[in-house]
Amino acid sequence: MICLGSNMKKYHLVIWLALGLFSSQASAANAQTEIRDFLKTLFSDNNQYVSELSHAHLAEYLEQQNPRATIVACADSRVQSNAFHSSPENDLFFIRNIGNQIQSAQGSVEYGINHLHTPILLIIGHSHCGAIQAALGDYSKESPAIRHELDFLHLPKAGTVDEGVIENVHQQVAFALKKFKDKVRKGELIVVGTVYDFRDDFGHGHGRLILIDLNGEKDAVKLKNHEYIKGLDGIAIGGSEKTQ
Ligand SMILES: [Zn+2]
Repeated sequence: MICLGSNMKKYHLVIWLALGLFSSQASAANAQTEIRDFLKTLFSDNNQYVSELSHAHLAEYLEQQNPRATIVACADSRVQSNAFHSSPENDLFFIRNIGNQIQSAQGSVEYGINHLHTPILLIIGHSHCGAIQAALGDYSKESPAIRHELDFLHLPKAGTVDEGVIENVHQQVAFALKKFKDKVRKGELIVVGTVYDFRDDFGHGHGRLILIDLNGEKDAVKLKNHEYIKGLDGIAIGGSEKTQ
């Protein structure tokens, strides 16, 4: 019986190895198809872009860039500039990382503010952010590099992911106001905190960019009457989660 049991184990092991090999080959084949499809789209879309490119527009930035905004956004693939800017070239100095944070990208942010002199620093968080979710939980088993970036986020462990998203944007704005306080004081820089809500978690509609912080002002009524906002139509303000 022992001998039979041993043979059965070997038999099962062979089956599992064969299945594992098959599964690994299948996933490699799937990855190959996905990669090929992506590269096809990438270069095809670029061909389309080149064919429609305005040379007058291109001439504006051949020698140097002149963006109006430095942006710090989450690297999440669901957050893209086409949701809020129809012509981002030469206007957005775009920095992305997990959790839309300044501290892990300070060199890039300083370059945008101190060398390119953008008058706007825009922080963009987003609903249901995986980085915020991770930072709120136990991420001790992540790789050192991921832990290193998440360690910059200091969020209260209680509360929902979306509450963490809002709190993180406010913290990033506060950090920037301190870091660039002279420019802010002189009126050369404004720090804007927003949340891109593709899920409609905050009740302003799917895909809305919501203003939640302007130079540290978080109150929705005061934001509405802020000198930079007053009189402008169609601005979603305030980041309270829907209750239903
Ligand atoms: Zn995210």
